[in-house]
Amino acid sequence: MEAYDELIQRFKETRLLESIGGLVGWDERTYMPPRGSAHRAEQMALLAKLCHQKLTDRRIGELLIKLEQSPLVKDDESVQAVNIREIRRVYDRAVKLPESLVEELARVTTRAQNVWQEARKDNDFAAFAPWLEKVVHLKRQEAQAIGFKESPYDALLDEYEPGATASEITKVFAELRKDLVPLVQEVTSAKKKPRKDILSRDYALDRQHLFGQSAAAAIGFDFTSGRLDTTVHPFCSGIGPGDCRLTTRFHPREFNQGFFGILHEAGHGIYDQGLDADHFGTPMGSAVSLGIHESQSRLWENQVGRGRPFWEHFFPRLKQSFPGTMDDVSLDDWLFAINNVERSFIRVEADEANYNMHIIVRFELEQALIRGDLNPRDVPGAWNEKFRQSFELTPPSDAQGCLQDIHWSMGGLGYFPTYTLGNLYAAQLMEQARKDLGNLDDDFRRGDFAGLKTWLNDNVHRRGQKYRPRELCRRITGRPLSHGPLLKYLRQKYAELYEIR
Ligand code: ZN
Repeated sequence: MEAYDELIQRFKETRLLESIGGLVGWDERTYMPPRGSAHRAEQMALLAKLCHQKLTDRRIGELLIKLEQSPLVKDDESVQAVNIREIRRVYDRAVKLPESLVEELARVTTRAQNVWQEARKDNDFAAFAPWLEKVVHLKRQEAQAIGFKESPYDALLDEYEPGATASEITKVFAELRKDLVPLVQEVTSAKKKPRKDILSRDYALDRQHLFGQSAAAAIGFDFTSGRLDTTVHPFCSGIGPGDCRLTTRFHPREFNQGFFGILHEAGHGIYDQGLDADHFGTPMGSAVSLGIHESQSRLWENQVGRGRPFWEHFFPRLKQSFPGTMDDVSLDDWLFAINNVERSFIRVEADEANYNMHIIVRFELEQALIRGDLNPRDVPGAWNEKFRQSFELTPPSDAQGCLQDIHWSMGGLGYFPTYTLGNLYAAQLMEQARKDLGNLDDDFRRGDFAGLKTWLNDNVHRRGQKYRPRELCRRITGRPLSHGPLLKYLRQKYAELYEIR
């Protein structure tokens, strides 16, 4: 059908422009010299404007109306129907945003990211504050322009997690917190403690790079269609078919950061590489949501990568990769150390249990920012207060407090909750994969991860946006999302390691 082909053609062009933005954005955060920031901001703003212009072209609206009355949408699970439905969703969001706001957001957030990087390095919140004010101001405008039923935060959240609302997430998080707090308490007061020191020995950077890269390849990331570079704040950028960029950061005396960062980003990358290339640039060839995306990274990083079977395969290789470093370390020591539970300041270094408490702090703060209940200039005080309530710790500096994450500088308000949603989805998906695939652990012990990867390809990746996150979860696992599987998984893991009941 002509109208359908034209719609797809036009939409694909917006996605191609976006992927060019992805590439210059990747460059900005990896190789661009610092003084290139202002010019890069202009490039990004132009791309955002062009993309927005193309997406909001009235012709797309006309085509959608025509197609929505055509037989193409009869079967709502058909490729055409899914594409029409989801392009409608994106189009409706885009036409509500004035072009000037889109352009200004791209310009301000590109600059703000650069200022944030410096401010974090110098522990100088005052330098970042005016930029945070600008970003929050623009995001509040965005929420008003998009519209919402209950809370302005919902309008922002919807961009990342279609259909989710703050009130629904608040409920799931409250249930999680209720069970998580006593578990963390129990684990941290256990007598048995891991030998943490084995993680902070000399781990030569080039060897970390090679070892991490080989693990990423083993779990299924295809390096002929991707690469790995270093950055300040690790991310994965799926540029398009055959091109997926992973980034990480290494520390010469710290193992976890580099290695688990790579596994995490490789999990994202395996999702991007698993999307149907024939449907590139259309909803059927796109990821469902950030929450589901995060479930893929968490699944490989934690459910697989922090488990015993995984290390039964990799531990001897680890010892070979760092000769002499690990002579006095057993597999049990190692497993216990990489699963150490401890309250700490930095989210990306947090263990699997405490991690979610970090997210809840941010989720509450950014809702207050968007509602206008919290002045961006007062963020450090509010942060430290909330942090004390959740962790009984006071951050020694803003760099280890409210300046640690890039998200707010890049305008990603509404983004944080998708991390914990990802943890919840990961646990529920893994529970189902174990039911469907039999003894996965034996595969892992042999270094064979293909069964699990194929299962994820079939059940998640290649379905594109056929289902919204909630529905996808129900289709795969037969149940709505709950905190049960994550809690069960954590309880079981820590019971063994810490020898609690
Ligand atoms: Zn992630």
